[in-house]
Amino acid sequence: MKKRICIICGKLLNDGIIIYGRGICSCCEKRLMNIEMDTDFYDYYKQCIRRNIAELVIRGEELKCQNYRF
Ligand SMILES: [Zn+2]
Repeated sequence: MKKRICIICGKLLNDGIIIYGRGICSCCEKRLMNIEMDTDFYDYYKQCIRRNIAELVIRGEELKCQNYRF
């Protein structure tokens, strides 16, 4: 199995949650539970999610298009 890293803090993932194959460690997950909406960390987290998961979804669509041609 491939080793995953947390998309927020970049540490190796031992536990936590996986979204679209991207990991968030339990430490960052806990921070998210208690997050204040107008903090820097919230903005940073949103950027991480957008960069990592949005790109992944777009790439998945391209893959589907390529398969369709064959
Ligand atoms: Zn983390």
